[in-house]
Amino acid sequence: MTLAEPNVPICQSCNMEMFEDSDFGTEANETLSVDYCTHCYQDGAFVDPDLTIDQMSAIASDFIEADNVTMAEAKAISKAILSNLKRWQ
Ligand SMILES: [Zn+2]
Repeated sequence: MTLAEPNVPICQSCNMEMFEDSDFGTEANETLSVDYCTHCYQDGAFVDPDLTIDQMSAIASDFIEADNVTMAEAKAISKAILSNLKRWQ
């Protein structure tokens, strides 16, 4: 897994790009998760199974840094992105 990889996998829970093995979550059998990052998924389960898409979009909106974007707009943008991910289908 290198930065030159054309299709960087993204976490299907929080949209984080996963570059290194240490970025990936782990399954119960200690293999790496193909879908989720280490912050979201460990030992075959979500770290915070009760998290809602609204809560996640509030967290994710902190990573949207742009001028003239309000917090509400940032949340709406992140929710639109997150709603395409496997966890939130
Ligand atoms: Zn994640």
